[in-house]
Amino acid sequence: TKWVYSFGKGIAEGGAKMRNLLGGKGANLAEMSSIGLPVPPGFTITTEVCTYYYQNGETYPPELAAEVAEGLKAVEAIVGTKLGDAVNPLLVSVRSGARVSMPGMMDTVLNLGLNDETVEGLAKASGDARFAYDSYRRFIQMYSDVVLGVDHHDFEDLLELKKDLRGVSQDTELTADDLKELIGEYKKTVEDALGKPFPQDVQDQLWGAVGAVFSSWQTHRAVVYRKLHDIPEEWGTAVNVQAMVFGNMGSDCATGVAFTRDPSTGDNRFYGEYLVNAQGEDVVAGIRTPQNLTIVGKDMQHSTLPAMEEVMPVVFKQLDEVRETLEKHYRDMQDIEFTVQKDKLFMLQTRSGKRTGKAAIKIACDMVDEGLIDKQTAVSRIEPQSLDQILHPMLDPDADRKVIGTGLPASPGAASGQVVFSADEAEKRAQNGDRVMLVRIETSPEDIHGMHAAEGILTTRGGMTSHAAVVARGMGRPCVAGAGDIAIDYKAGTFTVGGVTITEGDWITIDGAAGQVIEGRVPTVQPELSGDFGRIMEWADEIRDLGVRANAETPDDVRTARDFGAEGIGLARTEHMFFDGDRITAVREMILAETEEGRRAALKKILPMQKADFVELFTIMKGLPVTVRLLDPPLHEFLPRETVEFDEVAAAIGVSVEKVRRRAAQLHESNPMLGHRGCRLLNSYPEICEMQARAIFEAAIEAAETTGEPTHVEVMVPLVGIRKELDLLKDVIDRVAKQVGQEKGVEPVYTVGTMIELPRAALQAGVIAESAAFFSFGTNDLTQTTLGISRDDAGAFLGAYEKRGIIEQDPFQTLDVDGVGELISIAKERGRATRPDLKVGICGEHGGDPKSIDFCQTVGLDYISCSPFRVPIARLAAAQAAI
Ligand code: ADP
Ligand code: MG
Ligand code: MG
Repeated sequence: TKWVYSFGKGIAEGGAKMRNLLGGKGANLAEMSSIGLPVPPGFTITTEVCTYYYQNGETYPPELAAEVAEGLKAVEAIVGTKLGDAVNPLLVSVRSGARVSMPGMMDTVLNLGLNDETVEGLAKASGDARFAYDSYRRFIQMYSDVVLGVDHHDFEDLLELKKDLRGVSQDTELTADDLKELIGEYKKTVEDALGKPFPQDVQDQLWGAVGAVFSSWQTHRAVVYRKLHDIPEEWGTAVNVQAMVFGNMGSDCATGVAFTRDPSTGDNRFYGEYLVNAQGEDVVAGIRTPQNLTIVGKDMQHSTLPAMEEVMPVVFKQLDEVRETLEKHYRDMQDIEFTVQKDKLFMLQTRSGKRTGKAAIKIACDMVDEGLIDKQTAVSRIEPQSLDQILHPMLDPDADRKVIGTGLPASPGAASGQVVFSADEAEKRAQNGDRVMLVRIETSPEDIHGMHAAEGILTTRGGMTSHAAVVARGMGRPCVAGAGDIAIDYKAGTFTVGGVTITEGDWITIDGAAGQVIEGRVPTVQPELSGDFGRIMEWADEIRDLGVRANAETPDDVRTARDFGAEGIGLARTEHMFFDGDRITAVREMILAETEEGRRAALKKILPMQKADFVELFTIMKGLPVTVRLLDPPLHEFLPRETVEFDEVAAAIGVSVEKVRRRAAQLHESNPMLGHRGCRLLNSYPEICEMQARAIFEAAIEAAETTGEPTHVEVMVPLVGIRKELDLLKDVIDRVAKQVGQEKGVEPVYTVGTMIELPRAALQAGVIAESAAFFSFGTNDLTQTTLGISRDDAGAFLGAYEKRGIIEQDPFQTLDVDGVGELISIAKERGRATRPDLKVGICGEHGGDPKSIDFCQTVGLDYISCSPFRVPIARLAAAQAAI
C-alpha cells in the first residue's frame, strides 16, 4: 500500500476522484495542482493510515515514516528550504481533511517547523524579524492549543497584557522585541502546564501534529457531527502537510475565503472576504472584521473598508480567473481559500460550496442554462432536506416588526425562539420542548449541538463565512451573523441593543434573509413556490418512478399537500375526526356503551360529522386517489381520564358516573399498542366499520356531484394479521357500498385494501392479497412490531444503542432496511404473485425520509406517502433514487 501522495509544481499523484483515499482537501489540492493552479507543494497521508491507526492500537504502518520523509524531501526540493534548517527553514501547515468537510476535526496548525533556532533563520532569510517572531508566537499558541491541549485563553491573556503594557490596541503594533518577550512567556506557560518544554525538535512537532489529526477523529465534537450527518466512522481522515505561504508579511499580503457564487441567494457573482496582512483562520474566526472581495454588491455587505478589487487589482484579476477555471472544471459552485504572499496568489483549498436551499436551486437552474450541467445533474445536486428551508414559513410581510438590531443575512428563513446564551442551555431547553434562539458573540465547533437544538442563531461577530454562518446554512437554521450593535453580557444573561435589553428566556425573532433581529414573536406566511423551484420540481417529476402522496386529513393539510404536488392521499386517518370538539363525547359514549344498541345510537351522532369531513376531503382532492384508513388507535385513547369527562359521558348516556367509571376500568389495557385496536376493534364492533363505510360512500357520491370527477376511494383496514380479519370487514364494507348505491342510485367506485404493519401480515401477504386490492406499509407499526421496540419507550435506550454502534440510525426515522425492509420486499413479492396488479405503497414517517425513499425505489413500490410539508422533498428524493 502507498500511504503518502505528493502534490506541487503543476503535478500531483492524486486527484479529485480520490477523495475517499485523500480526503476532500487533499484530493482537491492535488487536482488544483495538476490543472496548473498555484498551490504550495505538499503531501497527503491517506485515510487508510487513519483506519490502520485505529485498528492497530494507535500505531502507524511501518513504511509510513519513510514515505513521509520522501514526501517532505519533494516539498523541500520545490521550495528550496529544509524543515528544521537553521539558515533557511521550511515551514509547513498540518491540516486535517476527511472525505466531507467536517467541523470538529483538528484545527489546522500553521508555521510548523519553527523553534528557537529556526526562528532566527527565518528572521534573517525573510529580512523581517517581526514577521518571524510573530509567526513563532502564533505557532506556539496554535500548536499548544490544538496538539498539546493547553487552553488558548492563557496565550490570549498574555497577548492582551502585553498590548496593554505597551499601550497599543492592535497585534500588529507590537514590535519584534515585544514578540520575542511574549514567546518566552508562552513557552513558560506551556512548560508550567505540561511539566515539559515546548517541543523544539521539528520532527517531534510534525509527528505530534499528525497524531493529533488522527486522534481528533474520535473527539466528542467529531463524533457528534458524524452522527448528525450520517458520516460512517470507518471513513477516517487524511492529513495534509503543506509548505507555508505567508499572508502576514506586510500590506502586499492577504488571506481570504470566497464562494464562486453567492451561497445565500445563488446569484452569479464572486462573493468573499479577505484580510490584508493576516494569516490563516483570522477571517473565519471573526477576530477582525474582514473586507469584501468585490466592489459590486458592497452595499449588500457589511464592510465599508475598500474591496480587494480596489486594493490589489492585479491579484484580484488573477483570482477572478481562478474562479472561472474552477467553475468550468468542477461544474459546480466552489468554496475557496487563498493567500497572497507579496502580491503572489496561492490557492489553499477548493471544495463544493455549502449553500442554502434557495441558492442550490438557483445555481442548479443557472448552470443548466449556462450549459455546464444537465437536468439530471441539477436534480441530483439539491439536497432534498435543504428544501425544508424554502418550504417553511417566512415572516408575514404585513405584520409589525419591531426591529431592534441588524446583522448579516447569513442563512435565510425566519424563526422565533426564547433567547439562550449557551449551546448547552439551548440543548437542555429544547429537550424540554422549548423553542430557543441561540445568541452568541461567535460560535465554534463546540456549539454544534446547541445550534442544532435552536430554531435560529444570532451572533454579534463574524462575517458571512464565519463558523455560525456556514454551519447554520448547512443545517438549514436561520441565522443573523455579525450583528455588531448588540452587546451581550453572558454573566448577566442579557443582551442590549439600541436601549432595549433582552433577558434570557425572552422571545425574539430573526429574519435570516434580511439580517433582522426583532423583539417578540412575528407571525409567518407560506412561501411562494414557483420559478426555479418549479423548474426543479418539474424535472424531478419527469425523472422519478415513484408516485408521491401525502398523509393528510384536515382541510388545511390536504390543501398544502395539493399545493406541494401530492398526487393523492396515501393516508387519511379517521381517528382525528373523532377527537374534535363535541365529537369526543359521542365517541366515548359509543366506546363505553355496553350494548350494540347503545353503540349504534352514539354512532348515529357521529355519522354526519364524519361524512362532512369526508365531503370536504374528497372535494379538495377532486378525483385523485384518497386512501381512507378505518379507525385505528387503541381504545384507551378515547377513554375519559378526568372527572369532568366522566360526568359528561354519564350525562350523555344517561347512566351513573359510577357505571361509566367501572366500564372504563374494564376497558383498560396494559399494552394498548398491541391491544384492542385497528381491525380488532372493528371486528368486535362491526357497526363502527359500517358507520365509517357509510360516511365514506355517501361523501364520495356527494363530492363527485360537486367536483364533476368520480371520487377515487381506497378503503384501508388497519392492523390486519390474519386474512379473515380483513374478509369479515370487507363484507361489511361491500354490503354498505351496495346499500348506499341503491339509496343514491349511483354505484360508489372504491377498492378495499389493507395496511401491512405486522410481521405475520407481511409473511401471509400472498394469502391476504386474495382479498386486498392494495397494500400500504405502515412502517411505524411494522418497525415496532418487527423489532419489538415500542416507539414511545425507545428513547430510553436507542441513544445508547447508537452510541455503542449496535444500530446506526433511529429505525423510526430511517427504515431498518435489513429487517423491516426484508419483510417489505417479501410482502410485495408474495402479494404481487397472487395479484399482479396489487398496488403497493408506504405511509409511515419513512415515506418522507430520502434514504428510506431510496429503498422504496429499489423494492419497486408504486408510491410513497408522507406528511404534506415533506411532499416536495419526497418528489426530489424519489427522482434522485431513480437516477
Ligand atoms: P479548515 O478545514 O478549518 O478550513 P484549513 O486546513 O483549510 O482548515 O486551514 C485553515 C486556513 O489555514 C486556510 O484557509 C489557510 O488560510 C491557512 N493555511 C492552511 N495551510 C496553509 C499554508 N500552507 N500556507 C498558508 N496558510 C495556510
Ligand atoms: Mg478547522
Ligand atoms: Mg479550509
